This record gives sequence, C-alpha cells and structure tokens, in this order.
Amino acid sequence: MLFFQKVFTLREPCKNTTAAEKGKIILSQIRKVINTHFPGIFTKFNCLTDSRKRREYSMAELITGALFMFIFKETSRNSYNNDRREECFRNNFLKHFGFNLPHGDAFDEVLCKLNPDEIESLKATLVSGLIEQKILRKFRFLGKFYLVAVDATGMATFNKKHCDHCLTKTSKNGLTTWFHYVLEAKIVTSTGLCISLASEFIENTPGIDFEKQDCEQKAFARLALKIKKHFPRLPICILADGLYPNNTVFDICSKNGWSFIITLKDGNLKTFQTEVGLLKETAKQQIVYQASKYTRTTLEYAYLNEIEYSGHYYSWVECKESILYTNDNHFDIQRFVYITNIHLTNKNVLETANSGRLRWKIENEGFNSQKNLGYNLEHKYSRDSFTAMQNYYLILQIAHMINQLVEHKKEVIQIIREHSKQTIVDLWKKLIGFLTMVPFHDPINVPYQPG
Ligand SMILES: [Zn+2]
Repeated sequence: MLFFQKVFTLREPCKNTTAAEKGKIILSQIRKVINTHFPGIFTKFNCLTDSRKRREYSMAELITGALFMFIFKETSRNSYNNDRREECFRNNFLKHFGFNLPHGDAFDEVLCKLNPDEIESLKATLVSGLIEQKILRKFRFLGKFYLVAVDATGMATFNKKHCDHCLTKTSKNGLTTWFHYVLEAKIVTSTGLCISLASEFIENTPGIDFEKQDCEQKAFARLALKIKKHFPRLPICILADGLYPNNTVFDICSKNGWSFIITLKDGNLKTFQTEVGLLKETAKQQIVYQASKYTRTTLEYAYLNEIEYSGHYYSWVECKESILYTNDNHFDIQRFVYITNIHLTNKNVLETANSGRLRWKIENEGFNSQKNLGYNLEHKYSRDSFTAMQNYYLILQIAHMINQLVEHKKEVIQIIREHSKQTIVDLWKKLIGFLTMVPFHDPINVPYQPG
C-alpha cells in the first residue's frame, strides 16, 4: 500500500504564482484522491502478469506511466514522452509519487502483451472499493439502485484492415472502413460523475462472415455477464437508449434482478405502444412547475402500470418538458418516454423519469469528455495492436475515474468558480507547467519501493 506523506515546498517563488498555485492544488488533489480512494493501486499494478524477459522497470512503474499519461491529459504517447524528457518533470514526479516515469515505448511493449481482462478486473476492484467507501451511495435511485447507463462508442477508425478483430462496413459509394467500438456500462450520477463499471469490446472473431459481425446487442449479453461476475450483488438499474427495448434485454435484466428504465421511441414495441395508446386517457398524471431567472419550466408526467408485452408486464412513463425562455418568449418542448420494470406510483414517478433522463450523461460526461477534454479516446495510442488498444482504453477509464473525483473536490471547484473563464483543460495545462518548471525542494517520503 502506498502513502504519499509529505507536502512538497517550492524551491523558489514562481513568477506566475497564481498559475503555479493552481497546478500545485491539482497535483495535491490527485495524490489525495489516490491515497484516499484507491489505496494499494500501485501494488495491484505489480500483480499484473509480466511477460518481459528484460525488466528495466517494475510493472507498477510501467502501468503508472500509462495511467499518468491519461491523468495528465497528455493526449498522445509522444506528448507524454516530451514532458518526460524534461529532467524537472521526471524528478518532480519521482519525488511526488515515488516512481520513475518510463518511456512510452516501454509501457507500450507491455500493454501489447497484457491480457485486457486483467486490467478490466483491476478496474472492477477499484470501482468496488469506491462502492464500499459509500461515496456513490447517496446517488442511488429510490435509495437502492445504482444507475448504470449502457451505450457504445467508437474507439478508432481505419481506411485499411487494422487487425483480425476489426468491424467493417462499406458505404453506398463502395468505400470500406474498419473500426473498433466498445460497449460501456457506467455508473452515472446527477452531479455528473460517470464511472466505468464494465467495458466490453465489440469485436469480430477472426475469419467471421461479414453478415455475422459482432454488434452492440450481442456485446450487451457479454457485458451483462461481466457486470454480474464482478458485481454479483450490486443493486442496479439499467438506463439505455431506443436500441434496447427488446425481450433479450428485458430477460437479461430480469434474470440478474436488475431494474431498467429504457427509452421508448415511437417505432419500438408496437403492441406495447398500441396498448399504451388505448389506455393513455386513464394514465395518472403529475405536473411540476420550475422557475429560474430566465426560464419557466413545466414538466408533465403521465404513467401506466401493468402493460403486457410478450407475456410480461411493464410500466410506461412519459415526461413532457416545456421551457419558456423569458428573454425572448420562445418555447422549447421535449418529450421523453420510457419503459420500465419499476411499478410506478405518484411517489416514485418523478424520480423514475428523471433518472431515465440521466442516460445522456454517458454520452456527455462519459464519451464526450473522454474524446474531447484531454483524454483523446479516439487517438491510436498503439497503432497496430488491438490488445494494447484495449489496455489503453481501460487504463484511460481508471484515469478518468481518478480525475473526476479530483474535479469534484471543493478546492478544484473553488478555482473554477473564482475564474469564470478557467476550464478544467486549462487547469491541467497549469499542472503540467508546474511539474515541468517548478522543482520541488523536499524529497517525498514514500515507504514503498516499486519493483
Ligand atoms: Zn482492428
């Protein structure tokens, strides 16, 4: 178990104290989050299978290198290597975290051979730790279920075959592309936390027919097995989009004892929707009015229980949201419809529909942040190896989890509040500047020797 004990001091006053101070705060918070929420993470890295013959670095140092490439939002191995080349950066990292940062090629070599299942299991252990620490407990739906959004996203696209596991498609004009997708299950919260519970790569088996390619639906069955394996007793409510209302998904949820709130599009489950249409006039309703400085919002909820579909009974809920913008009097109207296996009442219908709407957070706080806010998810961290690609993706999930907890710390929120133009990405640039330019004076006392 690794504990970073001493707080560093600066050798000399920095010209831009404010920027350095911000970098220092972020660095301290990263250390604090790792110590508090992920104790033993580096020891766990050392337990991963090491297939190398020559061992210049320990496994803990190598995986830490890859992890901090993402924590520091370096966006590429090249950028990481450039910072690492700076003596000040390397020394500061060693003093602050107790590790020698390896060259990017060194961890790439290991990640090309390491079975991604090992990192996936490690990630699950870390998430289990967070759950045990009860920091996600207050966000549970109906005081019981962790909200788990499920969705797929693209990882990489190629204009020629990249590996035997590539998915492929040919457009109408005959252009063929090869690509990789991943299906994610992420715990989402109303405050914007989006934590990877399990990841399942959508990949072809070598030699498979084009028509029999892997797809999101097939991957969901595997993802569900993975969730059940790593989190067998976790009370879960699955949130998913209009691709998911079907018997296979309902059966998987039922078999695992999971709740679900799944988007119902107009074309989905015709017999179910016909039944809803016939009974809609009898639906129970609730109306909520909300006012802010610039808006007047009306939320109209309607719901029905005991609607039969394929021999099972489900509930239906609709939320119509009308927002009046008082500055120009224009209206925005949206409609959200869900099918759920939760029995709806006046007491729980608002929370159910509002939880269903949290599904979009996997797209925004999840995929969008990982693609555009410093993690560069779609970058080819390893060009040729599908194994390494998966490992980088999974390590990115761990880094994002750590950084999200850092970004939710009051010290970091305070910086953002104080400077309205300050973005998280800018703050992390200050962190890199701080590490690269301000030598730490005191050695950090780290009672853990990697290797
Ligand atoms: Zn490939």
